[in-house]
Amino acid sequence: NANRKFHPDNTVIDVAGRKIGGGKLQVIAGPCSVETEEQIITTAIAVKEAGATMLRGGAFKPRTSPYSFQGLGKEGIDLLIQARKITGLPIVTEIMDLSDLDCFADVDVVQVGARNMQNFTLLKALGRSDKPVLLKRGLSSTLQELLMSAEYIMSEGNQNVILCERGIRTFEPATRNTLDLSAVPLLQQKTHLPITIDPSHATGIASLVEPMALCAVTAGCDALEIEVHNDPKNAWSDGAQSLTPAQFAETMKKVKALSEFM
Ligand code: PEP
Ligand code: MN
Repeated sequence: NANRKFHPDNTVIDVAGRKIGGGKLQVIAGPCSVETEEQIITTAIAVKEAGATMLRGGAFKPRTSPYSFQGLGKEGIDLLIQARKITGLPIVTEIMDLSDLDCFADVDVVQVGARNMQNFTLLKALGRSDKPVLLKRGLSSTLQELLMSAEYIMSEGNQNVILCERGIRTFEPATRNTLDLSAVPLLQQKTHLPITIDPSHATGIASLVEPMALCAVTAGCDALEIEVHNDPKNAWSDGAQSLTPAQFAETMKKVKALSEFM
């Protein structure tokens, strides 16, 4: 059960030795999509050097248009595993369909994207393993609905659920989504599960990622998920919101200083 009332202590999720929710900020960084061996490995080494503690990268991509790049699929996961071998960073990647479940056996954290937050069949199936699940808030979902989706996973047995606020649809078109930062303290009152903020998908704009990441740390989040690409201008997806390795390194200096102070 996700409710704080029945479980007053914070849940700490161990991901290959990295503890999410244990007081130390975890930073999941990497490209929107895994594109090539050179791209994922270069980016993985860069984010590790800057202080990221986990590597993200999409292999199965939920794109708005069916004509956009759909991800490398299983090959993308194999490349993430290769990047993990080189850097030691645990890997986080999104599952879109239950029929791909076998591809995720060696993944450290399975991400459920915003578009699948209420795919209850998928949630229940992930609940029957003990693999950590990073559950992203739906585009127009309430916090209560996010928590109920977490319950779908937990009620099947898997207690390793990490919540993620990634911005919600509002009337404001200036940003891709509107980051709901009050979600952090509010969810902390309601649940013992760790909370991640994704300032990349929340804003859609690279220059807004650092300020929103710093606000998220101030709000008390347990982890950040940030898109970083070795060459954002030529990224196959979400280049406009992706930081260069140099920008990410600068952001990490501030994030680390602030999280030590918090
Ligand atoms: C992602 O993190 O790759 C992604 C697609 O994000 P979201 O599901 O939040 O849109
Ligand atoms: Mn993306």
